[in-house]
Amino acid sequence: MPTNKATAGATATPHYCTLVTPLPVTFSPGVAEGRQRMIILMVKKWVNGTKLKYYFFNANDGSPATWRGNAAEINVVKQAFTAWKSQGIGLEFEETNDRTDAEIRIGFLRGDGSWSYVGRDIIDAVPSFDERTMNFGWDISDEIDTAIHEIGHTLGAPHEHQNPFAGIVWDEEAVYNALAQPPNSWSRETTYHNIIRKIPANQVEGTVHDPNSVMHYPFGPGMILEPAAFRNGIDPAGGLSAKDKEFIKKIYPPLTQTDYVQLKLSKSELMDIKPGEQKNFIFKPTMSRKYKIETFGTMDTLMVLFERINGQDVYMSGDDDSGTDFNSKIHLRLLKGREYVIRVRLYYSTQGGSGSVMVY
Ligand SMILES: [Zn+2]
Repeated sequence: MPTNKATAGATATPHYCTLVTPLPVTFSPGVAEGRQRMIILMVKKWVNGTKLKYYFFNANDGSPATWRGNAAEINVVKQAFTAWKSQGIGLEFEETNDRTDAEIRIGFLRGDGSWSYVGRDIIDAVPSFDERTMNFGWDISDEIDTAIHEIGHTLGAPHEHQNPFAGIVWDEEAVYNALAQPPNSWSRETTYHNIIRKIPANQVEGTVHDPNSVMHYPFGPGMILEPAAFRNGIDPAGGLSAKDKEFIKKIYPPLTQTDYVQLKLSKSELMDIKPGEQKNFIFKPTMSRKYKIETFGTMDTLMVLFERINGQDVYMSGDDDSGTDFNSKIHLRLLKGREYVIRVRLYYSTQGGSGSVMVY
């Protein structure tokens, strides 16, 4: 039994997630704080409408046998993807048997902790198709919330218990002691990084703490000094909380065909949306040639180009101009008769609707 300060009848400290440290976000000199905040909040998120393919390491890919999950665990992870998707979000998830085609690559290496990279870091920080972007380090066959939690990181969600607005004052030595025991056996550094450290206020979405979030660890008694209401611990209700659902639909709202604007050659379309929101365009070239797709105006954007093939959007190219004086730009040969989808997420603009998008 862990020797934490748990009172009689309380359960031992459970297994906790060891989130991978996100890649730092860098800015050109002189980028103002408000602009940095908007970029930091959005930069790890996917453009809405992206299909994320997931892959389970298996006996056919040359990976270590210890990376393979059993059927029950794999099934739990699939159900966890469904739990997010069933909120009606604009992202799509699909299992693939080809790891070179998968953004999310999942292993079940026991003893390696349960973790994921954050959002688009699964592309930017994990260059090899042979590497995992997510791991489950203990038996999760009856722990769907662990799978929902790790997928939450992949969608760009941070840890809620590190929300600075929670106002949590830890009994730090009690936390370090509890986490140094099995099953976590964490170093002080790991405990500091995953629990004690507060996420900077400019990196969290809302200003309200959500103790029921699936992104919140449960804590037993004796680990929290303040607020007094949490001295006996925090035990999230389980599953996605009302705020989790609100958060994910704000970042990835449902997409319908009426959300798409037809881009006409050399005619600019206004980016008349708020920071954090996204505009979606369709372009159908009448001639095969190289085209430039570009944003104009003082905006920070993420622009991604897909080709729509049999109703599926296949990624072609992307550009992120955030925190620079440049604009997002894609220069590619596009083919007559094909259909292209351009998604532009607005991180920041100096004036609402001051920017536009054009293909020429
Ligand atoms: Zn986590």
